[in-house]
Amino acid sequence: MASWKNYELVSGKPGLAKSIVLPTCGCYYDSCYMCSYKRDCPPKTPQNIVSIFESELEDGIDKYKIFTSGSFFDSRELSREQQLEIISIASDSGAGELTVESRPELIDEAFIKSCRDLLEGNMSLEVAIGLESANNDILKYHINKGFTFEKYVEKADFLRKNDVLVKAYLLLKPPLLTEYESILDVVESAHKVEETADTISINPVSVHRNSLVEQLWMRKRYRPPYLWSLVECLNQTRDLGPYVMSHPVAVGKERGIHNCGSCEHELMERIEEYNMGSRGLIDSECECKGEWEEELKRIF
Ligand code: SF4
Repeated sequence: MASWKNYELVSGKPGLAKSIVLPTCGCYYDSCYMCSYKRDCPPKTPQNIVSIFESELEDGIDKYKIFTSGSFFDSRELSREQQLEIISIASDSGAGELTVESRPELIDEAFIKSCRDLLEGNMSLEVAIGLESANNDILKYHINKGFTFEKYVEKADFLRKNDVLVKAYLLLKPPLLTEYESILDVVESAHKVEETADTISINPVSVHRNSLVEQLWMRKRYRPPYLWSLVECLNQTRDLGPYVMSHPVAVGKERGIHNCGSCEHELMERIEEYNMGSRGLIDSECECKGEWEEELKRIF
């Protein structure tokens, strides 16, 4: 099981977040074009999954983020009892916030109220939803997401009315979109979720093994986004109400978001400052910026 820590804003202040990947049986849907998380999951969720979570708790953590390679609220991954036990243990951990992830159709309104009551005001609950795009055509034809923007809005509204924080993930560069279209989609989507999300996390695609995106990538029909594109998205969303941030993975790698290999480190430092609330314009130069600008002109 993997876990890692990073600094980010927690309730508007810099805090230490610990991410914990719980080895459940993974996402029941398993059909998004860029994803193959399910391939790395065990066939069955281990019976001692609650104690696995408990063993990861430690002092000095402001926020726990639980990833299951699927949906925390899917009772095929974690039974209702296990979900409640984990929430109850987190509630006594001393941290101020807990994030879990879920597809919207698995958010049961009565159960969410039980979870919130269990936290007894000890900690805030945040539900992260992989919306990816607020454009239904992109959701259907470029991602195969299996739900609509309206479904997200329905559940996000419910969560916020019930004092649960909402984090919306937006995907940078789904397959078969140009670099320019993908920036446009993230920026438009971020504006569309402004009223329904407390946090917007921009997630650039990385090429997962055995995904449809990998098939395109191997045939040279897909390139992960330029880091310049993420910078552009952050610059164009810095005035929005929600906390906008990004923790890209595989930065600088062939399968991940990358520029030329020499400017990623500096740009990531600027992105980290942005993540910590600076909201300053990220402005930098490198020889490869011209290559990116040419890429933006491509229409196919
Ligand atoms: S992206 Fe999320 S919803 Fe889609 S298959 Fe992967 S884990 Fe499931």
